[in-house]
Amino acid sequence: MNTIRLKAFAKINLGLDVVRKREDGYHEVRMIMQTIGLYDKLTINRCNHTGVIVKTNLHYLPTDDNNLCYKAAALIKKEYNINQGVSILLEKKIPVAAGMAGGSTDAAATLFGLSRLFDLKLSREKLMELGLKLGADVPYCIMRGTALSEGIGEVLTPLPHFPACHVLIVKPSINVSTKYVYEHLKLNETINHPNIDGIIKGIEQNNLYTAISDFGNILETVTMKDYPIIGTIKEKMLEYGALVSLMSGSGPTVFGLFDDLKAAEKAFYQFKISELSKQVFLTNLYHPVY
Ligand code: ATP
Repeated sequence: MNTIRLKAFAKINLGLDVVRKREDGYHEVRMIMQTIGLYDKLTINRCNHTGVIVKTNLHYLPTDDNNLCYKAAALIKKEYNINQGVSILLEKKIPVAAGMAGGSTDAAATLFGLSRLFDLKLSREKLMELGLKLGADVPYCIMRGTALSEGIGEVLTPLPHFPACHVLIVKPSINVSTKYVYEHLKLNETINHPNIDGIIKGIEQNNLYTAISDFGNILETVTMKDYPIIGTIKEKMLEYGALVSLMSGSGPTVFGLFDDLKAAEKAFYQFKISELSKQVFLTNLYHPVY
């Protein structure tokens, strides 16, 4: 095989809690992760040279060893003594620095792609182990689907599929650094922790309405305070008929879940013409088939 084409799917957080800050500076989290049908496209080719070449449609993304696709390919080449080079064409659609694990999912797809391209036959567990060296969310991006993520993001428990619904994604024109948000999170007694176990119960009962009643993201206390536009988008989303709306990850992306496709489509067009949004997508949940 000389070429492989892959889709790297984005995630949203249906619930995000930070349990504590560890001595080493990392935050221990409890998050409900969900893959959605929005994806980047990757085309990976074997090449005649020995290095890694990354090309992308977004001129402001790094293409050197700061790009997560590059890092993932270099890691596989080093671990398995592969001399032959690869070129990676990355067509980005997932909003960047938006709380949707865009870079992590590209890294996950690259690990998987090189394993296939060079016939390494790496198990999902091995790919997840390698992925953790690249970032806390990369193991989840290899696993995908509905899952509970704990530890720093690497302790993963698959959950039953979240009940079917339509997902509206709205990214405002601000960019938010994940590092900044975690650094400014104040875990005092007054902070409201989302009920992650309540969400899990709703998922286990396959009840969309029970599950969404406990949705929450503790990082909203930082990002929404700094950027009130996030609160405005959430309110608008509900006004347009979303059952629930929440910031994903460290933001600034807001998602809304709809049980009514017509209402979701109408909301999509409203946001398309609104100054509140820079990017808008209407999609569904995604569940991998193993
Ligand atoms: P998370 O949800 O995991 O916090 P994020 O959505 O906040 O991720 P990313 O889109 O992964 O953030 O990008 C964060 C930074 O990583 C960007 O500023 C970008 O320069 C860099 N980066 C490196 N490789 C990639 C990539 N393949 N795709 C997107 N960003 C990348």
